[in-house]
Amino acid sequence: MTIRAVVWGENVHEQENKIVGDLYPKGMHQCIADVLNAEGGIEATTATLQQEEHGLPAERLAQTDVLLWWGHAAHGDVSDEVTERVCEAVWSGMGMIFLHSAHFAKPFKRLMGAACNLTWREAGERERIWLTSPNHPIAHGLPNPFDLEHEEMYGEPFGVPEPLETVFVSWFQGGEVFRSGLTYKRGAGNIFYFRPGHETYPTYHDANVHKVLTNAVKWAYNPASRVANPTDAPNVPVDQAPEKIVERGPRLHQDGEEGFR
Ligand code: ZN
Repeated sequence: MTIRAVVWGENVHEQENKIVGDLYPKGMHQCIADVLNAEGGIEATTATLQQEEHGLPAERLAQTDVLLWWGHAAHGDVSDEVTERVCEAVWSGMGMIFLHSAHFAKPFKRLMGAACNLTWREAGERERIWLTSPNHPIAHGLPNPFDLEHEEMYGEPFGVPEPLETVFVSWFQGGEVFRSGLTYKRGAGNIFYFRPGHETYPTYHDANVHKVLTNAVKWAYNPASRVANPTDAPNVPVDQAPEKIVERGPRLHQDGEEGFR
């Protein structure tokens, strides 16, 4: 069994900022894909914003077990069509991992149904990541706690719905705390949000972060076949009710009608 992962990168800072370009000469997305490919059992490829359909045509999403998403400067350039397609893939069972500033990505906000806002500061301060669910598969093999010497600060309140599980909580040198590893289920899809990953720091070169990413891909993978048409809302006519009933009272719709959206 090989998990097919796609690492989606916005690929803007790497092209426009020398610090980011020097840290990630092949792009953050390729760096993350290389990490995943070094782990047995995962086959990772990349997709970027600049490609046709942002590199995510329907046929490719149908063949993707887990999608990872890093975006920041160009959230607004992601088309609504691709956003909806990604959300439908999640509802049908595709695993999805949102990284760092993807808290404001269109598919994340759509899947969370919330503002997804937070406080932030870019000061290269230390982030200490505590395991709040040490037996969770995503925390497997990690020291508790582990530090990232230079990171951007994200602080609470984080405007997301209460997660299924909080796997990590971060403390920052400046005093703030943040729920930095959160799991969700949306439709049939497993979702993980992982906070670290600011582009001007070498976060995606850190061995513990590599462990989180590979663990998360394995956790998010759903081996069941995809749910077909996850947004269908079919009408069930009276004569097809599981138990025999007699229609009574007036109605608006005809049998088998599509209904309103
Ligand atoms: Zn950042």
